[in-house]
Amino acid sequence: MKQCPACGHERNNTDIRCPECGRFYSKVLELIEEEALNEEKSTFRGRCKRILNSGNINQAMRAELASTIAGLSKKAVFALFVIFVFVFALVITVL
Ligand SMILES: [Zn+2]
Repeated sequence: MKQCPACGHERNNTDIRCPECGRFYSKVLELIEEEALNEEKSTFRGRCKRILNSGNINQAMRAELASTIAGLSKKAVFALFVIFVFVFALVITVL
C-alpha cells in the first residue's frame, strides 16, 4: 500500500486526498481546489461569508468594499459606465 508523501499515512487507492493531513495526492486536484477557493474569494457569496464570519461586520464590509473597488479593472469600470448610460438613456426616452 502506498503512503501519503506528507505525513506517511497509509493511502487508499480510491482516496484523492489524505484523510490524515488533508494533502492531495494529485497536484492537479490541488490546483483545482486552489482555483475553487480563489473563485469563492471573489464571488459575492464568498464575500458575504467572510463578512458574516468576521467579528466586526461593519469594518469587514468596508474592507471588502475597498478591495472590490481596488480589484475593478478599467474595463469593468467602463462596462459599468456603459450600462449606466444605457439605462439612463432608456429612462429619458420613456419619460
Ligand atoms: Zn497525509
